[in-house]
Amino acid sequence: MVVASLELKPDRPLVICDADEVLVQFLVGLERFLLRNNRKLVLKSFAIHGNVVDAATGETITHDEVTRLLKDFFQHDTHQLDPVPGAADALNALRAQAQIIVLSNLPETAREIRRAHLASHGMDYPVIAGSGPKGPIVRDIVQAIKAPVVFIDDLPPHLTSVAQATPHVHRLHFVADRRLARMIEPAQDAHRRIDDWPSARTWIESVIS
Ligand SMILES: [Mg+2]
Repeated sequence: MVVASLELKPDRPLVICDADEVLVQFLVGLERFLLRNNRKLVLKSFAIHGNVVDAATGETITHDEVTRLLKDFFQHDTHQLDPVPGAADALNALRAQAQIIVLSNLPETAREIRRAHLASHGMDYPVIAGSGPKGPIVRDIVQAIKAPVVFIDDLPPHLTSVAQATPHVHRLHFVADRRLARMIEPAQDAHRRIDDWPSARTWIESVIS
């Protein structure tokens, strides 16, 4: 789906929401996938490359193989990820006041799988497949929007990119997985860091109304 086909309403608040570690449990799903492939994630740092080992020998898996594994993961396991608790309810409440879209960095070939999977868990929203820093695409999306916009992501570089491209957008740093949340400091370029959906909903409502 391309930005031009979103049919956004200029006068309605907009929530632009990441999926992995915000709406769905990426890390838990990736760990399941890796174990099926005799691989294991050792969370020494907030990264995947460099932290995947052979489950039997403990040997570190090469950068190229991790890239290939991630591609397979998105293709085959996107539809199996567990939803983040409270996400569907919060978005459902927010849609009374706002339009909602999902901006997820994943291969375009996995976009429809992601959209259908989110819909099957009560999150039936347009999905844009992005790649790279999210600032430029967010600038395109919000170009015509005159109402408040909220951007939500777990990765600080995206929050920085959006801060640079569109400083007026309200930025929420959200990390669903508790282990990741402990490893990652509140992003400097976010307005708030919140890791649970009931509280996130309250904050989002306060900035869009
Ligand atoms: Mg994410």
